[in-house]
Amino acid sequence: MSGHVSIPVELTVYGGTLRASIPVPAGPVTATELLPVFRAVAEAVIHLSVKNAERQGRTVSCRDGCAACCRQFVPVAEFEARFLISLVEGMPPARRAELKRRFAEAARRLDDAGLRDRLMAPETQPRDALKTLGLDYFRVGLDCPFLENKSCSIHPDRPLVCREYLVTSPARACDDLHGVEGVDLPLRPSLALCRIDEQPSQTLVKTVPLAMIFEWAKSAGACPAPRPGPAIFDEFLRRLGPHRQAPPDAPAPAMSPDPA
Ligand code: SF4
Repeated sequence: MSGHVSIPVELTVYGGTLRASIPVPAGPVTATELLPVFRAVAEAVIHLSVKNAERQGRTVSCRDGCAACCRQFVPVAEFEARFLISLVEGMPPARRAELKRRFAEAARRLDDAGLRDRLMAPETQPRDALKTLGLDYFRVGLDCPFLENKSCSIHPDRPLVCREYLVTSPARACDDLHGVEGVDLPLRPSLALCRIDEQPSQTLVKTVPLAMIFEWAKSAGACPAPRPGPAIFDEFLRRLGPHRQAPPDAPAPAMSPDPA
């Protein structure tokens, strides 16, 4: 592929090994432009993790049209937030207007529920307030703005954390978040993406609540300067490392309760 370099990747997940040579743009890009590459790695990690669950006699119960998880707090990386905003902005006018109306309504409801500061400025919140954030968000009963007739309307472009959320418990468990049995992922591509360009002084993993991406954009800084694609991909793989853990202060997203 012209303008790309092939990067050899080897990841071991539950004894299964992913070996691939992944083409990455050689020139300067942002992590947003590398999303297709990160998705490919995530799908491989998920595939091997599901195989492991199946070896334990567990079967993924997620089905098209269930959507019970699409009322949960969905923390996305800033790079994904920028992508999702551009995705909406590029839609036909009527669809764009409808989605923006839904996002504005979501922001209003989260504001009314007193969750805005906890979602938008977690670093200003006491640790206890963050611990219950996922549950408090779920109690608002807010559908993801991208949900359409109980299906994800942006399925090929959905965030990494949505891909990683798979359960083997009955769908009704996701209706009230009791007894949910998730597929454990020993590597978390969604977290690795959130950590790209992370500063050593950071104590919280930076995320953006999906339902608030347009609110976040009002005060977000400029996108980090482009860097060579291989350098960003290398950072992603380092942050994906099997022993990399979320810091204890990281907000525990309802969609991803067990950061690896
Ligand atoms: S982006 Fe799609 S999969 Fe993710 S929460 Fe929204 S509707 Fe569900």
